[in-house]
Amino acid sequence: QEKDYQFMLRTKNPGGYVPPQLYLVLDRLADEYGNHTLRATTRQGFQLHGILKKNLKAAIAAIIKSMGSTLGACGDLNRNVMAPPAPFKNKLEYQYAWEYANNIAELLTPQTGAYYEIWLDGEKAISAEENPEVKAARQRNGTGTIFHDAEEPIYGTYYMPRKFKACVTVPGDNSIDLYTQDLTLVVITNDEGELAGFDVFAGGGLGRTHNKEETFARTADPICYVAKEDVYDLVKAIVATQRDYGDRTDRRHARLKYLIHDWGVDKFRLVVEEYFGKPVEPFKPLPEWKYRDFLGWNEQGDGKLFLGISIDNGRIKDEGNFQLKTALREIVEQYNLPIRLTGNHDAILYDIEPDNKQAIEEILNSRGVVTNPGQIDQLARYSMACPALPTCGLAITESERAIPGFLERIHTLLDKVGLKNEHFVVRMTGCPNGCARPYMAELGFVGSAPESYQVWLGGSPDQTRLAEAYIDRLHINDLETFLEPIFVFFKKSRKKGESFGDFCNRVGFEAIREFANSYKPR
Ligand code: SF4
Repeated sequence: QEKDYQFMLRTKNPGGYVPPQLYLVLDRLADEYGNHTLRATTRQGFQLHGILKKNLKAAIAAIIKSMGSTLGACGDLNRNVMAPPAPFKNKLEYQYAWEYANNIAELLTPQTGAYYEIWLDGEKAISAEENPEVKAARQRNGTGTIFHDAEEPIYGTYYMPRKFKACVTVPGDNSIDLYTQDLTLVVITNDEGELAGFDVFAGGGLGRTHNKEETFARTADPICYVAKEDVYDLVKAIVATQRDYGDRTDRRHARLKYLIHDWGVDKFRLVVEEYFGKPVEPFKPLPEWKYRDFLGWNEQGDGKLFLGISIDNGRIKDEGNFQLKTALREIVEQYNLPIRLTGNHDAILYDIEPDNKQAIEEILNSRGVVTNPGQIDQLARYSMACPALPTCGLAITESERAIPGFLERIHTLLDKVGLKNEHFVVRMTGCPNGCARPYMAELGFVGSAPESYQVWLGGSPDQTRLAEAYIDRLHINDLETFLEPIFVFFKKSRKKGESFGDFCNRVGFEAIREFANSYKPR
């Protein structure tokens, strides 16, 4: 008899969009086949854990039939395309970001029918009509020609050397960690507020391996500007450059970031231009990036409201008096509301009639879910952790199950050193793959041995700068001894309003070490 193999199933939701019927199906599947929880991911999708092999087909078929998909949520191809989750209906640039996130997702979806043959016995999927412009761009010959392989015109026979991550955002909105993506498009509008084109970043990526210097986290570089008419051809050109020149001999060196690092931006741009068929235009200036989580009640600009709900570690569950899973099901069932998942594994319910605000709030509050962002624990609010043990096969140590304890201890310590209400971005992963993007955190923990973490310091509160590894192995028992001197130094020497990450970056590791070495614990 075959073993009871169990799987993790991940959905693909461009821009984090989850229609109500899909949410209700996922909620049911988690109970029927999964571990009774849903996990919002850091790339705006959902994961279901613990699906037995014999139930995979029924689960995936149910998702596809509810306008969902798992195609391209894993594997060596374009993953879920991210976009800012705030559902502003009166800001055109947000509409453009969602539209193009969908279109780029469609452009880079594998054309093989195998997916439907396997999971739907060849039945045609009930999906939205294909965008003719995108379809034409995918098949286009002449300028921008990539392949003549009609079946898989972009990926060809061998797909990509490694996963490929993309996002579309608007100027100033860094809710999607734009510097960590292989490809980022930034909406640029003309004086009338209409879409003109996109600024393009490329070459971000965080996965690395401990003790292998040749692997590293890297932030994306500005590459060029592209007019909206040419955007699909440029995306194809970048994907093709990585497809054809990305390292296929060593998976650890296969992401686009290594190609750009090895070549330099100028050479990369030249090769992309060869595929593109003409020179690209210079990058346009952009305002500063800010991280925003859009929690709490907000006007969405068309008379309706949206509500951002903080989800600790993205885990939607019922546990004792905390009944987030039931509350969300009740609300979606009763009010038929769509959801947008955020890049910080939170969820936004939207299209809410103001008349329903109170009833929705009551459902959440009566089930132990805090809706007022001011009442949310601020360390937890900005933190992220990957699932790690027991569900991820790559985990070296705990993450999701460990972070609540870490945050509590950090609170106690901050209190002790006189920084009671201080908060900053804490991120934790169970291995250096970095799914919760710890290398951009102000305080990052990366599993390096059982019960031990490499510690990263110096990222920025808006995720615009890479942190650096401060020590390779911190045992969980030593957390306070390690952090106390650093917090004391921060309190003593910070500039007014300076964040913890900015402080660590400004003073540098040498100064921190010097202070810590001469520090006498209280
Ligand atoms: Fe698994 Fe590592 Fe990703 Fe965590 S960071 S989910 S341990 S692969």
